Amino acid sequence: MTETRDTVILGSGCAGLTAAIYTARAGLKPLVLEGHEPGGQLSITTLVENFPGWPEGIQGPELIENMKKQATRFGAEFQLAHLNSVDLNAHPFRLKTSAGEINTRSLIVASGASARWLGLPSEQALIGHGVSSCATCDGFFFRGQEIAVVGGGDSAMEEALFLTRFASKVTVLHRRESFRASKIMLERAMAHPNVVLRTNTVVDEVLGIDENEVKGLSLRDVTNGEASVLPVSGLFLGIGHEPNAKMFAGQIDLDEDGYIHTQNNVFTTHNGVVVPGVYACGDVQDRRYRQAITAAGSGCMAALETEKFLEEHGH
Ligand code: NDP
Repeated sequence: MTETRDTVILGSGCAGLTAAIYTARAGLKPLVLEGHEPGGQLSITTLVENFPGWPEGIQGPELIENMKKQATRFGAEFQLAHLNSVDLNAHPFRLKTSAGEINTRSLIVASGASARWLGLPSEQALIGHGVSSCATCDGFFFRGQEIAVVGGGDSAMEEALFLTRFASKVTVLHRRESFRASKIMLERAMAHPNVVLRTNTVVDEVLGIDENEVKGLSLRDVTNGEASVLPVSGLFLGIGHEPNAKMFAGQIDLDEDGYIHTQNNVFTTHNGVVVPGVYACGDVQDRRYRQAITAAGSGCMAALETEKFLEEHGH
């Protein structure tokens, strides 16, 4: 028989783990489905300097591990599984996961956002062979080599600066003239002797498919169409993230970019009407702030609404 839980939390990043701490402490024995990227984006960052309470900063993976321990102490359960499909029309809601079927009286969606790719076939073919979306995971492999980072936002600047620890030269390629990155991050990148910023430039092709390793990039200057080749052995993507909410399309409202539309940060809606018992928190519903602390805050809010919902329905 399919098990019925009080609450299931999708995602084990900052939002999901905060929701797990609160719902576990309220005695709801939450089940956390850890998802495709356990620990979420913090688990692949280095030093987090702006999470209140850590005056010297804390490593992202350590912060996540601490939150997980805290949730476990109060009775949260974790499963290394992801959601395949969901039926929100029946109550309890029916979930099909990579580990089987579960019914749940309430659902907290904290599935976050994943790195965006350019979408070039050559890029996709060379992921893990010189193409990466995670500087902190893969930078180590490029010691003494020349590499490129695509993007013009804070992520691209942060990746480029981080990669200077390993690479001898980092070229940042941005498709426009002006940058989206904050002034401080841009200035740091511009001031670094091993970072070169190249604007109005797009990547047409990643070279090296036959060798199964990145050999260079075929570039184009968008102002005059001029093509060139940049010989690099690594390509890092720093072009933002996509919300992980596709499986909810048609059952809860998503905005034009696929983020879950929420009211008061956590209430999900369908055709504009609040869906009782389904809450969303963290980056899957936040295109504006996207911070660890705001994700944690909305995770707490989702947990408190879940408690209230279950109590009102006699559980
Ligand atoms: P952003 O959306 O801010 O920037 C994405 C960048 O990638 C833009 O410059 C965009 O170009 C470019 N881009 C997007 N798609 C493509 C494409 N297909 N081809 C080429 N270029 C593309 O995302 P970030 O991840 O940089 O930042 C997200 C949020 O997180 C921001 O609020 C940021 O401030 C914050 N952040 C803060 C950090 C810090 O303070 N330490 C570190 C990292 C992130 P265009 O400008 O033309 O749209």
